[in-house]
Amino acid sequence: MSTFYIVATPIGNLNDFSPRAVEVLKSVDYIACEDTRTSGKLLKAFDISKPTFSFHLHNEHHKVEHLLNILRGGQVVALISDAGMPGISDPGFLAVRAAKQEGFTVTVIPGPDAATTALVASGLPCDKYAFEGFLPPKKGRQKRLTQLAEEDRTLVFYESPHRILKLLKEINEYFGGERIVAVARELTKKFEEVVRGSAEEVLQNFEDRDSIKGEIAVVVAGKSYSE
Ligand code: SAM
Repeated sequence: MSTFYIVATPIGNLNDFSPRAVEVLKSVDYIACEDTRTSGKLLKAFDISKPTFSFHLHNEHHKVEHLLNILRGGQVVALISDAGMPGISDPGFLAVRAAKQEGFTVTVIPGPDAATTALVASGLPCDKYAFEGFLPPKKGRQKRLTQLAEEDRTLVFYESPHRILKLLKEINEYFGGERIVAVARELTKKFEEVVRGSAEEVLQNFEDRDSIKGEIAVVVAGKSYSE
């Protein structure tokens, strides 16, 4: 039985690429990439030269069959995403499920992901947390925010720099201005920062900026948390 590897890649800092991840990618027959051009740069930097094919959210259903065919033929495949852990707000789950259903060995090579890095950096309780990823952009967003306002676990969101002010305003509106929030931006990169304070203070901090760039994860304290 062939093996399907899920391999985590850096979320910014190339030194976070584990030796085991590199070793596995050098050993497989194919690498399925969320974006072959983006991953091409990473693979080149680590001298990994293997055939790649695209495997992204929009072709995931179709490409699962392609991936299974490779495994059925006895060859080994690895899946990587643009950054971090495949399957976490990235394609992966369907392929893992399908490979397991056919009895293939699925091995995850762990590594960086923005959610747990932001969670630990936030200084908020990490014993129980709920990963929410990206909130629905329109339909269902208000309902979800209303439900999450009651959640006692620490919450972790992903958000784009274009929508961060909108999310921070919503956190103020639905969770209250006193709720502790940490915005983790550009984790592991040169301009890494974690802005922590009440929802009101953090919103003010970002409203005062001329521009907001980079990759952002937002951590919000659970309802019962106080300092
Ligand atoms: N699979 C990835 C992971 O393991 O974290 C997440 C992929 S998701 C499509 C991309 C989002 O993750 C970004 O929009 C941002 O919210 C978050 N993210 C990725 N890299 C980040 C970083 N270096 N700092 C803060 N957030 C990051």
